[in-house]
Amino acid sequence: MIMTETPTVPGEFCCPECGFVVVKSILYAENGAVARDTTDRMELCPNDGTILRPVAYADALDEARHEACRMGARARIGEQMEVLLHNLLVRGRLSGHEKTAAENIVKDWEQRVANERPYRKQEQA
Ligand SMILES: [Zn+2]
Repeated sequence: MIMTETPTVPGEFCCPECGFVVVKSILYAENGAVARDTTDRMELCPNDGTILRPVAYADALDEARHEACRMGARARIGEQMEVLLHNLLVRGRLSGHEKTAAENIVKDWEQRVANERPYRKQEQA
């Protein structure tokens, strides 16, 4: 186990340059069990050769929280688009208000995608 000042997630490493994440696991063929590989073998990022860092629990939890927010936003957009698509199919057209709503959903989505950062890059700075 690599010793660090903050508690880290066993077997989970992240590249501070590009955000690449690896979860090292061991598969036990005799019974199909899977366990985290907690050996402290140094790994290099396959993208840029940077030494991977252990992932702190705080960063992993923060990333999970961000992902939950992203999933919630996607679900809400999906529901709104479903209503608009239903109206389009039933009436064969959208009202001006609905067209504006659809355009705003697309703009909001594009903005959201543009603001998404690479996995954990900011926290590792
Ligand atoms: Zn990298």
